Amino acid sequence: MQPFYAKLTSWLILSYFLALIAGFYLIQWQQFSALSFLAVLYVSLFIADFIGGLAHLFIDYQPLNYAKHYDELYFYPGDRNTPDFADKKRQIVENSSRLDMSVYHFKVHHRNVSPYLNRRYASFFYETVVPSAMLLITALVLATRSEQNALSVYLAFALLIISVGVLHTNHVHSWVHGSKTMPWGVAAIKVLQKMRLMYSMETHARHHSQGESGFCFLIGHANFIVDPLCRLLLQWHIIHKRHWHGQP
Ligand SMILES: [Zn+2]
Ligand SMILES: [Zn+2]
Repeated sequence: MQPFYAKLTSWLILSYFLALIAGFYLIQWQQFSALSFLAVLYVSLFIADFIGGLAHLFIDYQPLNYAKHYDELYFYPGDRNTPDFADKKRQIVENSSRLDMSVYHFKVHHRNVSPYLNRRYASFFYETVVPSAMLLITALVLATRSEQNALSVYLAFALLIISVGVLHTNHVHSWVHGSKTMPWGVAAIKVLQKMRLMYSMETHARHHSQGESGFCFLIGHANFIVDPLCRLLLQWHIIHKRHWHGQP
């Protein structure tokens, strides 16, 4: 990354977290009991998990952009750690949309997780920062309103948690895979999985092998809604298994 973009990225990440701290500071905590705090926290994480799961389902079942030659990357027969592959990828990526790139990255990670392990915090940050920032700004507006009741305070807190959750869905997923750039995240995930507070490695392995379950990457608790939805969409031929496999 060029120094200018590296600096800009650091500022963007810092700005997001400063705004988030401001949001938590502005919350009228006296409106919460221990029970309502835990209930709003869990429901918010569940909603973030569900939103991430739906987005993941949508992207996984989008067809690769064959017109832009993404199939040549997806089915690349040789070693991907070569200048030839890097050149090909740069040319294709330069002329395509963010959605095309995301579709390719999501699909290719089912077959080969190694590029995922070396991606840094900032790279995942850019994938979901726009919706997360919109949620955060809405929470800040709600938290600074002069007239507040318990419901608006709960909603502001929920939006802050959903924002953090949506922002970090792909980070959590990379931690599950054993990210080399964020070992602290990997360690936290191992504890949470041991305590059975989030989805297991088996659930995630099933997603990689079958593509019909385990789309929710944050805590995985919303999978019981998204899994049957995926199977229904497949049955109704609204989505097609060949697209999950990268075929036209
Ligand atoms: Zn997937
Ligand atoms: Zn994965």
